[in-house]
Parts: sequence; structure tokens; C-alpha cells
Amino acid sequence: MAVSDHVGFEEFMEGVKKRNPGQTEFIQAVREVSEDVFDFISDKEEYHEYQILRRIAEPDRVVSFRVCWEDDQNNIRVQRGWRVQNNNAIGPYKGGLRFHPSVTESVLKFLAFEQTFKNSLTGLPMGGGKGGSNFNPKGKSDHEVMRFCQSFMTELYRHVGDDVDIPAGDIGVGAREIGYMFGQYKRITNQFTGVLTGKGLEYGGSRVRTEATGYGAVYFAQNMLEQAGNGMDGKICVVSGSGNVATHAVEKILHLGGKPVTLSDSQGFIHDPDGIDHEKLQWVKEHKTRTRGRISDYVTAYKNATFHKGQRPWGVPCEVAFPCATQNELNAEEARTLVDNGCIAVSEGANMPTSLDGAHLFRDAKVLFGPGKAANAGGVALSGLEMSQNSARLSWDENRLQDHLKEVMAGIHERCLEHGGVAGSDHIDYVRGSNIAGFVKVAKAMLAYGVV
Ligand code: NDP
Repeated sequence: MAVSDHVGFEEFMEGVKKRNPGQTEFIQAVREVSEDVFDFISDKEEYHEYQILRRIAEPDRVVSFRVCWEDDQNNIRVQRGWRVQNNNAIGPYKGGLRFHPSVTESVLKFLAFEQTFKNSLTGLPMGGGKGGSNFNPKGKSDHEVMRFCQSFMTELYRHVGDDVDIPAGDIGVGAREIGYMFGQYKRITNQFTGVLTGKGLEYGGSRVRTEATGYGAVYFAQNMLEQAGNGMDGKICVVSGSGNVATHAVEKILHLGGKPVTLSDSQGFIHDPDGIDHEKLQWVKEHKTRTRGRISDYVTAYKNATFHKGQRPWGVPCEVAFPCATQNELNAEEARTLVDNGCIAVSEGANMPTSLDGAHLFRDAKVLFGPGKAANAGGVALSGLEMSQNSARLSWDENRLQDHLKEVMAGIHERCLEHGGVAGSDHIDYVRGSNIAGFVKVAKAMLAYGVV
């Protein structure tokens, strides 16, 4: 096919829409990546001849299955489970399991598609996958969660394996659920292999995995700032969320000399103008985990702080922002406020926290904007290192893993620079850089395999 015969971008997207009716999240994710990739491959004949983008946007397979379990009142409950294996060109499928009532095939296909590029960016040999169920663990007893996890794994075990597909946790799937699922896998197969990551340290888990996403997002901000001749030292930072990613982001901001001033949860945010120091952070961690308390209680412990009910923290003036709570938590209006207040960098700890128009606004204002695909990839990178340790039957020490995390984040940043340059300016478009760098490695491997 001659270059001039290529289908146009909108024609390509029409095909995606037609083949995936009603799957809005998936179609949106394909559009976001393809906008950049289409431009990049416009003069590269072999990518067109071998239909690389068309093939990456078609999952290798989507497995859907019934999950039956019995609740504490002996009622039979039926849920649906899925595993989306998007692409294994550069390594076995890898990506989390999400247990949440909002889970649909479209959401998991979007996440598996995104994961393919994120994993490629880490430089580690991992393909892209994602899975989960519309099961809601909130409000369920431990025994109910255990029975559900066992039933889920009784089907999933046929489709995964330490060289095939290695799931991890995600929303609603933490250490407890991973433990139940790993136990069931071991029981069914009689094998102790690294089939899941995010495991407890006692049975094959990795040090630094828990901290990796939050720490990585701050390293990524530091890399972007240093590239622009700046640094984290002394920077006022606004952080959203108060879970795993947010609290570890605050910890790393403190290590690097920054001043975190906010945290939030689904009920509102706290602003501490004195800064959240190590002692206050420790209080938050204990309060959230041990007593399952709310972030609003912070103001009773620290009198100079204020709680802002039902609000998000983006109106607090800062130089660096870390959205670390959930998807679509930062809209265009809030992005405008951040820019007007002097924010120079945004590093996404969460997955897709910034709306598309918010991201465009950051790009136009030349804010250093690290998309989740790049900025929060530290978590999956440490999962990749958990796999390496399991294969080698070794457990690496803390320092070695901390160094690895730093190197991985620096490597991701370098890869973004390769393709993120903006003509006629020294600004870096990290969205474009991450989309193209993530694509190229997968595409080259697919070309090597021919049509399979
Ligand atoms: P946690 O469940 O530990 O924390 C989530 C935090 O976000 C909580 O403080 C929660 O508050 C808050 N939150 C949830 N929903 C809302 C909402 N609608 N509005 C405001 N705040 C909300 O999750 P993680 O920290 O692990 O994950 C956070 C994000 O990071 C997610 O997008 C996740 O997909 C992403 N991520 C996580 C990785 C990891 O390794 N953990 C890896 C890569 C990405 P509340 O307690 O009130 O619900």
C-alpha cells in the first residue's frame, strides 16, 4: 500500500467505534494515544503495511467468566469476571485486577490498552493486560471476600501463569485479596510460582513495591523540573488523596526538600500552611489504616490546618501538583486555577486524574505535565522486579530496589524526551513523548514477528 493510500485518523477511529459499540472508555483511550501515534507513523510505511496500530487496538483476547460465591447469609451471589490480555509482544501480560461495581469490559479494555504502553515505557519486558470483576469488597466480611477471591481464581488460574500473565492489585484488590487469590492458585496447581505480584513479604513479595508508585511520581516531577533547570527543593506541593500513592508521594516530597501542604479524600481536603512533615504524615498513615479514619480529623490534631468539605485542593497556590486520588479529579477549570496560581509542574500519581481538556490546557500553558502512563509507572516497574526476584528465588535488599526505582523513573523520563520535543521551543510534551515511546518498542517487536 502506498503511503498516500493510508486510512485517515477519523476513518481509523470510525472503525474502532464500529468494532467496539458502546465501549466509550476504550474508544476514548484509543483516540488519545492514536492522535500522537498517527502523526508519528504518517511517513513510516511498514507500520501501515503491517497494520500495527489497528492490531494493538484489538486485544489478543478478552476472557469473561461467571463467578459464583456464597455470602454470610448463605445466599448464592453471581458476579462477572474478566481478564483482558491486550498485547504480549514484549513480555508476558501484566496488569492489575480491579474489584469495583463500576467495572465493565470497556473499562478493563481501556486499562489494558493503556497498560501496554505504560509497561513498554518502563523498559522492562512486560506486555499489557488488566482484569477484574464488578464485585464490591466494601462492606463485605473477610470470609465473604475470601470466598469470592477463591471462586474468582478457580476460573482465572487457567488463563494466567508466571510466564503467561501475571496480575497484580488495583482498586479494591490489596494485600488481603492478593493473599487469598495466591493461596487458591497454589492450592489448585500445587505450584509456588510468581503468578501474582503485590504479594506479602513472607511469600514472595518485594520490598519497595508499596512505596513505588508515590515515590516514582515524585521522582518523575524531579526529573521534569531538573530538565527545565529547576528542582524540587523548597517547592510548595499540593497533593490529592490520602491513600497509598498520596502518602508515599508526600514522603518523597519531604525527602527531596519540598513542602507538601494538602491531602484529601472523597469528603474534602485539608490545607496545612505549615507543611505536612514526617511526624504529621505518620499520624495520617496510622489514622487512615488502623482506625480507618477520615482526613478531616487532621484539623483536630493540627490546629493551624483547615478542612474544606466537599472540595478539591487545586485552588491552593502551589508550584507542583500531584493528583493521587482517582480518575477525573482535576478538570479544565481547576487546571486553569493551578496555572494562574503559578503551578509549573503536574505529575499524575493516579490513573487518568486530569480530564482531557485539563491536559490540553496544561500543554498550551507549557506546564511540565507528566501523564500517569509515565509518572505512575514506578508501581508496575517494581512489580516487574518482584517477578525477577521470584524467578531467581531471591529477595533483593531495600537499597538495591530504591536505586532500581530511581533508575527506572529516569529511564522513562529519557524515553519521553526522545519523542516529546516541541518544534521551535525547549518545552517537552510528555504526553506525546510517552505515547510514542511506549508505542515504538511494542511496534518493533510486532514487526519482527510478522503477521501473527
Ligand atoms: P487508595 O485506595 O489507597 O487511595 C485512594 C485515595 O483516593 C483515598 O484517599 C480515597 O479517599 C481517595 N478517593 C477515592 N475516590 C475519590 C473521589 N471520588 N474523590 C476524591 N478522593 C477520592 O488507592 P491508591 O493510592 O493505591 O490509588 C490511587 C490512584 O493511583 C488510583 O487511580 C490508582 O489506579 C492509581 N495507581 C495506583 C497504583 C498503586 O501501586 N497503588 C499504581 C498505579 C496507579 P476515600 O478513602 O474517601 O475513598
